[in-house]
Amino acid sequence: MSTPNAKRLAKRVKLSEEHLITRMLNIAEGLEDVIKLGRGDPDLDTPPHIVAAGQKALAEGATHYTHPLGILPLREAIAEQIRTYGGADYAVDEIMVTPGGQHGMFVIALALLNAGDEIIVPCPGYNPYGQAAELSDAKVVKVPMGMETNFTLTAEMIEPHITERSKILVLINPNNPTGTVTAPDEVRKIAALAEKHDLIVISDEIYARLTFGNHTVQSVAALPGMKERTITLSGFSKAYAMTGWRIGYLAGPRDLITPMSEINHAFAISTAAVSQHAALAAASGPQECVEEMRATYDARRQAICAGLDRIGMSYAEPQGGFYVYADVSSLGLGITAGTFCERLLAEGKVMMYPGTIYGDHTDDFVRMSMTQPVERINEAMARMASVVETIRAE
Ligand code: PLP
Repeated sequence: MSTPNAKRLAKRVKLSEEHLITRMLNIAEGLEDVIKLGRGDPDLDTPPHIVAAGQKALAEGATHYTHPLGILPLREAIAEQIRTYGGADYAVDEIMVTPGGQHGMFVIALALLNAGDEIIVPCPGYNPYGQAAELSDAKVVKVPMGMETNFTLTAEMIEPHITERSKILVLINPNNPTGTVTAPDEVRKIAALAEKHDLIVISDEIYARLTFGNHTVQSVAALPGMKERTITLSGFSKAYAMTGWRIGYLAGPRDLITPMSEINHAFAISTAAVSQHAALAAASGPQECVEEMRATYDARRQAICAGLDRIGMSYAEPQGGFYVYADVSSLGLGITAGTFCERLLAEGKVMMYPGTIYGDHTDDFVRMSMTQPVERINEAMARMASVVETIRAE
């Protein structure tokens, strides 16, 4: 790209050709009635009692900076939530509220990674972990996962990737984009591996309360001896449908949270006060809303899987989060997932994302978000079936 300012940009700015998502968004802009299964942003509204708490806080003057770690009652409520749902025990100065969990990834990378340090990430996995590490000139080491393990990470798969420079191991459980849960026994093995090689674990548990069937998430920090080397990253975006409020948190040992809080302060000063008060209502108020949303996603998950079964497209068993990861190559159309997504959008008006966005080592998979009601999902599956037929007939 050669715009007048291109030469002035820092080297870390990657001037790639038009990004695939941008291209798809551009196509979608010119179309009506697109069914969007792309972004991981719930279509569900933030529950009314949470919105009301935000409104009340604003009316009462919550319009200022707060303590850099977050307002005390929120940190107390988060500590209580972690104890209840994860089992680890955190003090209020071991929790840092951030403007979204994603912001936390960059704080961690800046606080812990030097140039040349290595961070091990699942592949496919949530890509900002890699972007954050690259900002610190760290090396991102991807552990490729495949259908053989239903795209779940195992200690056995990780170990060959560990070197002298390995510093951080990222576990995303449930994972995005694959929707898979790492079983509790495997989490124990991964924790033992981290201990053996003196690694810090980032345990991303942002989807941990959205699991299906008998799948449950073992919180890494709750395992014996692990709290001191684990940073739990989570937030309110997914379980409480609060993406637009931009609020998440990190929980970790004091000797990591304190320096990270300095970086967080330099970056953000504090998280928006209004969002903190809303999150306080989320964490300390009635929890039925989370179960209702989980059940809603479960019904949608079944609708997507039934649709894919009808089309004859294989997929990783979705066990948690709100994504289904499906294999385009299983359709035998001879096209990549990128081309499939573009054609599906242009011809079927259904948007989903190719797996390559999440670092996938093949261009075979697509990610579908469960962010539409069941009727729209059924319609999307019917449109997809018809596009598949068109391609097959060519
Ligand atoms: N972690 C995972 C695995 C995610 O998928 C996301 C968002 O999609 C985040 C963290 C960040 O969420 P937020 O910044 O909204 O808290």
